[in-house]
Amino acid sequence: MVAATVSGLRSLDDLPFDNRFTRDLPADPSAERRRRQVEGAAYSRVAPTPTAAPRTVAWSPEVAALLAIPEELCRSDDFAAVFSGNRVPRGADPFAMAYGGHQFGTWAGQLGDGRAIALGEVLDRDGGHQILQLKGAGPTPYSRTADGRAVLRSSVREFLCSEAMHHLGIPTTRALSLVTTGDQVVRDVLYSGDPAPEPGAVVCRVAPSFTRFGTFQLPASRGDLDLLRALVRTTIAHSFPHLSGGEAPSDADLPELVPVWLTEVVERTAALVAHWMRVGFVHGVLNTDNLSITGLTIDYGPYGWLEGWDPMWTPNTTDAAGRRYRYGQQPQVAHWNTVQLANALLPLLGDDPATLQAAVDRFPDAYEAALQPLLAARFGWNGWRDGDEDLVAALHEVLGRSEIDQVLFHRDLADVPVDLAVDATPDGPRLRDPADRHRLLDPLADAWYAPDEIAGDTAEALVGWLLRWAERARAGGLDDEARRRSMDAVNPRYVLRNYLAQEAIDAAEAGDAALLHDLLDALRRPYEDQPGRERFAARRPEWARHRVGCSMLSCSS
Ligand code: AMP
Ligand code: MG
Repeated sequence: MVAATVSGLRSLDDLPFDNRFTRDLPADPSAERRRRQVEGAAYSRVAPTPTAAPRTVAWSPEVAALLAIPEELCRSDDFAAVFSGNRVPRGADPFAMAYGGHQFGTWAGQLGDGRAIALGEVLDRDGGHQILQLKGAGPTPYSRTADGRAVLRSSVREFLCSEAMHHLGIPTTRALSLVTTGDQVVRDVLYSGDPAPEPGAVVCRVAPSFTRFGTFQLPASRGDLDLLRALVRTTIAHSFPHLSGGEAPSDADLPELVPVWLTEVVERTAALVAHWMRVGFVHGVLNTDNLSITGLTIDYGPYGWLEGWDPMWTPNTTDAAGRRYRYGQQPQVAHWNTVQLANALLPLLGDDPATLQAAVDRFPDAYEAALQPLLAARFGWNGWRDGDEDLVAALHEVLGRSEIDQVLFHRDLADVPVDLAVDATPDGPRLRDPADRHRLLDPLADAWYAPDEIAGDTAEALVGWLLRWAERARAGGLDDEARRRSMDAVNPRYVLRNYLAQEAIDAAEAGDAALLHDLLDALRRPYEDQPGRERFAARRPEWARHRVGCSMLSCSS
């Protein structure tokens, strides 16, 4: 066993590898990189393919600290070499994972890490295991028809968003580094028949587990129960040790353990989606291969952030027709994915579905239980009460009347006074002095995309809702200070707005990473107002409305 405490590594060859995934699970007996079906194995050993001229563009100081990699090492040429895949450090055991998945509702068979290659698992500062995975490190047996590479554009998006999500307090895979490769990669951005070369890049993703729902589906689809059992036992031992008393469970434990485990997976998934809904994150491709078994946000592709309140919105042009993965449908789709996972686990229970059915049936309640305290905090209500759902639904109706930036609206709501003089009427509270409506609406004015529309019935509806909210907030009993603290702690000032990511990409593609660094720094403290950084909190500018990369993204990456 490697020492768990590592105080500032001297070399990347000192990374304390402890490769339990490859140690505990069956490997592909073939060492061929050739694209093929891999059966009876959880992974294939495959080395990264070197690139022309790796150069580090950015790293996450928090993830580097977690891995005890000091700043001098982050600035070294060896860092770029190791985290692009050009040099495999001592103790690594590079591998690509096998998995399958339902893509857009249809079973797609074997998928697997087609361009992600894990170097192995290291012990972090706290003694936990972290898999270091290079996304874009070259072909593997799972690459199907694709090249195993990633472009700078999508790598900037993955790098920034992983860290932004973490700092928002949302479970996610992390990103240690963003390295350009010096190679060109050809992509057809909108699948329109115009392929063009783009700069290539590699992100080193970091997480205790990259196991997906589809990891279990693949052996189940092939009737390979031995592999399925091994994956379940190992996943519980590595990532859910509290369920089996810290021991690896035996096959005999599984009929009893699997429903308990699935219940926890369902609860974690539901809680994750509740967080996405709170901040307005739309994953964009919630295929079963893109759902983490440990409840992390995983695989940042054509994701986006909700600007105006539009539950029908999806950033993913590949999904434009069906909008399966739209913002408002994420809870239902995540629930559907847990049902597919349960189906894969069914053979482990001797085909008695009742306990697994009960586990997936938990989803709606688990989702509400996770969402309600977040909403109560977001509105400054000091706890959730019956009837609050009507007030939230009423807000969504009002927000749908004009384009209103939902991030700014929720953040700035904390500035709206709750103690204006009102008269009770059968339709709810009414302002005693109509001139006071400005005191209600002015703090929110930055959120209006079309200020002219905030008039007439729309303005009346907003005022009416704000007065009901204020009444409810007063009934919550929090003083002004406590209410603001509650609201500011869950309503971010800064999120990775779609157009900001694109501006950082444009500059990075032109060789200037200053904006990317500045943005990363702002996103490290999303709940704090940062004077001088108003630009990162601003509403989407008009030029970005229909610009590719800002409002429209495809799976091309
Ligand atoms: P995604 O849409 O990113 O979740 O990927 C779906 C599947 O396609 C996964 O198996 C990926 O590894 C694979 N894939 C995506 N892009 C590439 C690529 N450029 N080279 C090889 N495999 C890829
Ligand atoms: Mg994926």
